[in-house]
Parts: sequence; C-alpha cells; structure tokens
Amino acid sequence: MNVLVINCGSSSLKFQVIDTESETLLAKGLCERIGIDGSISYENVARGLDKKTTATAIPNHKVAIELVLSAITAAEDGVVSSLDEIAAIGHRVVHGGERFTKPVLIDDDVIKGIAECADLAPLHNPANLTGIEACREVMPSTPMVAVFDTAFHQTMPSKAYMYAIPLKYYEDYKIRRYGFHGTSHAFVSAAAAEYLGRDISSLKIIVCHLGNGSSVSAVKNGKCVDTSMDLTPLEGLIMGTRSGDLDPAIVEYIANKEGSSASDVLNILQKKSGVFGLSGGISSDFRDLWKAKEEGSDSARLALEAFSYRVAKYIGAYAAAMNGVDVICFTAGVGENDGNVRADILSYLGYLGIEMDAEANKKRGAITDIATENSKVRVLVIPTNEELAIARETAALCG
Ligand code: ADP
Repeated sequence: MNVLVINCGSSSLKFQVIDTESETLLAKGLCERIGIDGSISYENVARGLDKKTTATAIPNHKVAIELVLSAITAAEDGVVSSLDEIAAIGHRVVHGGERFTKPVLIDDDVIKGIAECADLAPLHNPANLTGIEACREVMPSTPMVAVFDTAFHQTMPSKAYMYAIPLKYYEDYKIRRYGFHGTSHAFVSAAAAEYLGRDISSLKIIVCHLGNGSSVSAVKNGKCVDTSMDLTPLEGLIMGTRSGDLDPAIVEYIANKEGSSASDVLNILQKKSGVFGLSGGISSDFRDLWKAKEEGSDSARLALEAFSYRVAKYIGAYAAAMNGVDVICFTAGVGENDGNVRADILSYLGYLGIEMDAEANKKRGAITDIATENSKVRVLVIPTNEELAIARETAALCG
C-alpha cells in the first residue's frame, strides 16, 4: 500500500510517499518557512527525477498539506494519479507521554491525548497536531496513524526512568525519563538482529544514534531498558548544539553571573552548546570540526574528543546495565558517516573485547559489520530510516 509519511515541525513539514509492499520510496519533499514566506521542494524518486524547489506562500500547515497533495498527484511528475491511491497517512509525533506505548490509529480521543502531552513537548506536539488536523480536513476518510518518538522507551523499568527527586513531582507532573529517537532505536536494533540472523529476544544491543541530536539506548531482548535522553531531548550525549548532561546548579550559577533568567540559560544549553559551544562556536557540523582540527584548532579537537568520550562512557554504563553487550550499532548523520568518530569511541572499548576492522570502518552506505572476526562484540553501522519505520507501522495498523 502507498503510505504518506508526514513529519511536521513548527515551520516545516517533511514528507515521503512509500510503497510498503516493496518498501520503495516513491517521492519525498519538504515545505519550509511555513507562516513566514514559504517554499516546497519535491522529488519524484521512483522516476529518478531531479528535485525541484518552488517558492510559494505557505501561510499555515493546511496550505502546506494541500501543496504536498498536489505535488504527489501532479500530472507531470506526481507519483499517484489520485489521492485514492494513498491508502493511509503516518504521522511522526514527538511525545506520547506514558499513555502511548505503541503506534495508534488516530481518532478524536488520540488527538486529545496528543494535546495533553503538549506540556511535555511544547515546541513539537502542537506542530505535530497541526499536521494531523490539516490532513484530516483535506483527506477526512483516509486512516491516519500516530507513531511516537517516546513509545519504544516505555518498556524502561522504573529504576531507569525515575529521578531521585521528591516523588510528588512524578505523581503531580509526570517528571521522569521518557527518551526520544525511539523510532530509530527500534528500527536499528531490529535491523541489527535481522542482519546477524539472530533472534532479538536473545540479544543485548546498544544503539548509538549520533546526529545533530544524539542519544544512546540499551536494548535487552528486544526491549529498551535505558536511554540517554530524558524528559526533553537535552540530557545525555554532547550534541550539535545541546549540552547533554550537566550539573543542574549550573543554570542558576550562570543566570546569577549574567543577570539572566533560567529560560535564557536553557536556551543557551539548547542552541549554543554541544560541540558548537565547546569548539568556541566553530560549527555544530562534524565535517567542519574535523577540518578545523586538521588546521590546528584546539577547541575543535576538544569538542571532538569530548563527544566521543561521552558516548564511550554511556556505552560502558549500558553494558553494565545489561550485564554485557552483544552488538553496538552506530546510526544517523555522524554515526553512519564519520568513521573517525566511530574509531575514537571504539578506542575506549578494548576491555569489552572489541576489535575494529579499520578497512570495514571506511565503507559507507549499506549495513556494515566493522568489527574483526575475533571481536567479542559485533559493531554494526546501520543507516536509520525513521520514515520507513513509520510507514511500516502505519501499514500494519491500516492493512
Ligand atoms: P538530525 O538530528 O537533524 O536528524 P542527522 O542525523 O541528519 O541529524 O545528522 C546531521 C549531522 O551529521 C550533521 O550536522 C553532521 O555533523 C553529521 N554528518 C553528516 N554527514 C557527515 C559526514 N559525511 N561526515 C561527518 N559527519 C557528517
């Protein structure tokens, strides 16, 4: 069946059309600067046509959806001849709170539930809902599924998700670890088991999703038992511009020093920190950091070293949490493409019996095992595909 996958942000909307029987990507595109001025890019992948970008007014998400639907049905380069050929729509939803532990068919009650979780993801859930509402208006009889970034992590035991703060904060406000990138962690851990020809229910897997946003998860017997992101995606690894772990007292300390507020400091921790902040503002992009390091930048070297060190610490912690590890997976922009970062991380892990195959570590594209035959742990580079995962879940509920 053809599934339209929608990933709606506050001012952008990414989309793909996927044939779930053959698992082929038919078309993809992006609406940007929604509510500002607007542009849509669209690519008919099935026919290998060039991407085309058109500047056009996009005052709101409903207009964006209308543009997407006319792009995919256009006579000249559409991928379906009418909207009847779109059997279902899958929506990425960032926060599902404790209520949504798996993908669900969207109805009024689910929409209410997503709205109730907006408190926990004020930037994302309202944008996701706008996309859902816009699709409902334009294609009211097409079934829609919500796939949550947090759902895969809902299997964590309470000892992993609870904070050592007064219990009432959990009871009153549901403050706890939720975790994000769940669709990717689920997809990659399942792909690892399949690639190795092993049953996931007998594997201990650590997935390192290293992109602009980064997180690690421990997947034991197919279930997530711990993950590094938290109530929000700020905790855990050092990211492109997010700080990851730090002492919460730092927030008040900086605010007092600079006469600013807690939210000003949090904004800095979200947008000006991570490898960008640590490198002295060189870049959040690892390609720029390696270049700067080669040119002698000490702060770029520090940012790269600190990034890998933090990942290695989490791998150590999760190997302890699972009493061992069979497979380590690297995925997302940095994890899939940056062999130097992978080599740096693995250089800390000799004690686990890991041996990297330097030649295999240079390959790119398909799933690759970058550990030597003698290595006691398999190390896999696995391209993530969150859209395909959303399309699969959507087809499973609508088929
Ligand atoms: P997002 O979290 O936005 O989905 P991605 O997973 O696409 O991010 O990762 C984007 C990041 O991946 C870039 O900021 C860059 O640091 C890194 N990256 C992409 N390509 C390469 C490459 N060839 N070498 C090193 N790093 C790369």
